[in-house]
Amino acid sequence: MAESLLASQRRQRILDALRSRGMVKTGELARTFGVSEMTIHRDLDALAAQGLVQKIFGGAVTTRLDESGAGCTICGAAPDKRLDVTLHLANGGSRLACCPHCGLMLLGRLGEQVQSAVTFDFVTRQTVNVRTATYVLESAATPCCSPSVLAFRMREDAERFRLGFGGRVADLEAAMAWLARSMGIGFVPVDQLSEVSPGRSRR
Ligand SMILES: [Zn+2]
Ligand SMILES: [Zn+2]
Repeated sequence: MAESLLASQRRQRILDALRSRGMVKTGELARTFGVSEMTIHRDLDALAAQGLVQKIFGGAVTTRLDESGAGCTICGAAPDKRLDVTLHLANGGSRLACCPHCGLMLLGRLGEQVQSAVTFDFVTRQTVNVRTATYVLESAATPCCSPSVLAFRMREDAERFRLGFGGRVADLEAAMAWLARSMGIGFVPVDQLSEVSPGRSRR
């Protein structure tokens, strides 16, 4: 029974979920564990106090942003050379994401700290600027994270890909807005995260 889980077991499972998905939603966790959202808030508070998670509106994200390990900054997956996204930061550092799905999430979280970002055209494998790329969202091709986000250098290539594999074609702005909606989060600049209390409106 979900109710019989000890808080420590539940928190461990939350960390496991964060490791694989990069973020968790309070409502979803409450349903999964059969506990109240208040209980989940307390779990996330406890984990945040240990520096293991970062609370955002409606849930929590991993605190991997400062890790310089070789895995995806968002989900920890080993980056795939055909798909990975590199974000170059204003402070001279860089961050890696496994695919445009995580790349756009990371871009949303780092906001103006990102000076430039590059990925690869899904078909031609040419280098593409993330800001000028065209994206195919939620196509039948899901080589990495779901929902699938694939980058293309030319809009025509994205349209052609969509004809074969379905999905929607979008520019960066539309892709990020869609991703934030479909993941049930609002992108909050990292330096403002601590000002946002889950379950309450921003002051
Ligand atoms: Zn990832
Ligand atoms: Zn991925």
